Amino acid sequence: MNKPQIKGFIETSLCDWDGLIASVIFLPGCNFRCPFCQNGELIMDPESLPSISFDHISEYLKAQSSWIDGVVITGGEPTIWGGLSGLAGAIKDLGFAVKLDTNGTRPDEIAGLVDRGLVDFIAMDIKAPLDERYERAAGVPVDLDRIRRSIRTVLSLKGAHEFRTTLVPGFVGEEEVALMAEAIQGANRYALQRFVPDNSLDKALRQAVPCDDSFVSHLLEIAGKTVDNCIYRGKMSVGLS
Ligand code: SF4
Repeated sequence: MNKPQIKGFIETSLCDWDGLIASVIFLPGCNFRCPFCQNGELIMDPESLPSISFDHISEYLKAQSSWIDGVVITGGEPTIWGGLSGLAGAIKDLGFAVKLDTNGTRPDEIAGLVDRGLVDFIAMDIKAPLDERYERAAGVPVDLDRIRRSIRTVLSLKGAHEFRTTLVPGFVGEEEVALMAEAIQGANRYALQRFVPDNSLDKALRQAVPCDDSFVSHLLEIAGKTVDNCIYRGKMSVGLS
C-alpha cells in the first residue's frame, strides 16, 4: 500500500511519548480547523513544505535502533490517509513501537490499526464536551458518534493510551473539563495541555493568555475526580492538537 507523504521529521524527542525516546513523523492535512491549531502550514498549505522520503527515515531509524524506542505518527491528522497502515506496518517491520496521535474522527481506521497490532499507544484529543461546543473547538461540523466510537476503541487499549485537551481560554473551563473527564471515564491518563497562542490558526487567539498555574491546578483537581491519572503538560515540541 502507498504510504502517505511525510512533511516533517524530528529525529529525537523526549517529550512526545512519555518515558520513551522517540522519532516523530508529521503527516500533512487535517479534517479539523481548530482555531487554536499551531500547525497551520502543515494543514492548510502542505505543498509548500518539502516531502521527506520514508527511505531516508528508515535509514536513520536503522542506524539509531539501539537507543530509539519508538516512532510517533502525528500531523495534521494521520488517519485521513489511506496508506497510514502501510506506514505504521513499515515502522513496525523495522522493529520500532508506534504511537498514533489522532483527533478521533476516523474510528474505523483507528480500530483497524488496533486490530492489526500496528499501534502500541494512542493519544487522542478531546477538544470539548461532546455537544455543540465540539464544533466550535474543531472549527468544522463534527460527527460526535465517531468521536464516541474512537473513545471506546482507545479505552480498550488499557494502559497504552491517553486523552488530551488543550486549555484554550474561552473554550475550556471548569464545566468543560468536568464533562470531558466524564466522557473518557476509565482512561489510563488525561493530559491537560498548555495553550500556546503564538501561531494560532485564528489570529484573534494569538493575543489570548494561557491559564495561570493556580487555575491549571484547579482544573486538574476537577478532572481528577473522574480520571485517576491527570497530568499537566507544558509546551510540547509537536502535535498541539
Ligand atoms: S489542532 Fe490538530 S486536529 Fe485541530 S486542526 Fe490542528 S492538526 Fe487538526
